[in-house]
Amino acid sequence: MQEIHLLPWREKERLALLLKSSGVLDVIGKGDYVGLKIHFGEKGNKHFIPPTLVKIIGDAIKDIGANPFLIDTNVLYKGARGNTYSHLQIVREHGFSELGIPVVIAGGIKESSRKEAKVMVNLKHFAEVYIAEDFLIFNFLLVLSHFKGHMMSSFGGSIKNVGMGCASRRGKFLMHSSIVPRVNREICTGCGRCVDNCPGKAMKLTSKKAEISPEKCIGCGECVHICPVSAISIPWDSVKPGEFQERIVEYAYGVQKERKGKTGFMNFLYAVSPDCDCVQNAKSPLVPDLGILFAWDMVAIDQASLHLVTKAKGFHLPAGINKFHKVRPDIPPERQLEYGEEINLGKREYTIIPCKI
Ligand code: SF4
Ligand code: SF4
Repeated sequence: MQEIHLLPWREKERLALLLKSSGVLDVIGKGDYVGLKIHFGEKGNKHFIPPTLVKIIGDAIKDIGANPFLIDTNVLYKGARGNTYSHLQIVREHGFSELGIPVVIAGGIKESSRKEAKVMVNLKHFAEVYIAEDFLIFNFLLVLSHFKGHMMSSFGGSIKNVGMGCASRRGKFLMHSSIVPRVNREICTGCGRCVDNCPGKAMKLTSKKAEISPEKCIGCGECVHICPVSAISIPWDSVKPGEFQERIVEYAYGVQKERKGKTGFMNFLYAVSPDCDCVQNAKSPLVPDLGILFAWDMVAIDQASLHLVTKAKGFHLPAGINKFHKVRPDIPPERQLEYGEEINLGKREYTIIPCKI
């Protein structure tokens, strides 16, 4: 049974105790490079993990002589975190640049300079997955996840933070879509920018409008970002929510396989909104702030987090019901956990160990 270490939210300032009692600091060596996988929050979002708590984690890692880095990837959709330049501005606006912890955007300075690792998984949806290579070079990866709802995966915790968050842009595209991007030829001005920047040489202009050759497209999503008039879009509806969850789980499996277990997970059950941190004006939390968890198993920690939110008395919903499912009844509520156990990503059984204060 997987052990889940729990620090109540009211004791959050003593987060260093959770790191100590969980044993995570014992497996990090002096001089190790430690990646802290985080989501810095979309512009306008207020529910990301508080920088003050991230500083406590960074300081505890520095105290044992290791070198922490904050790390995330650029997103697939067009937004402030869609390219490295504006992503780093968000890092500053949200207070993460003053923590004394270097920041790495794993997408690289430009998409064309990105480095991705191809990892063989041979699973139901993917034979191989594409991971942003920087995640694989750290001696240790500590995944810091804000636990909250999500419009397609019902909830997002460690599995989603690893599966989607560590994927290269090509990987993100392949999880979201089973077909090539769509060109709206009425909006296209025929500027040719997408043609010049398509790494798959899959684009051409026909009758002064962009056209994608599906057999050449590698699904990198670059054209979506580069088009100045937003004429190219991701076909978000081509993958159903249950399958979307399975795809994320397969990517998480690829990261875990390549990292050979040198990874720990922390879920922050705070500001548990029905919306993810990519939403600018995410809705109010469903339950009071509950606590911070640590585990070595990403399936177990997400299962425990879901149980805790379900058990809690909500602001508008009673104790004992899956509040994410109540908000989005059409989304399979636990497919990522079921499939994670099916493919041996982790176990759903766990035991909670309260942190000794
Ligand atoms: S997704 Fe990438 S490979 Fe496919 S058309 Fe767009 S830029 Fe080219
Ligand atoms: S970048 Fe946009 S506007 Fe320019 S050719 Fe491509 S689709 Fe058309």
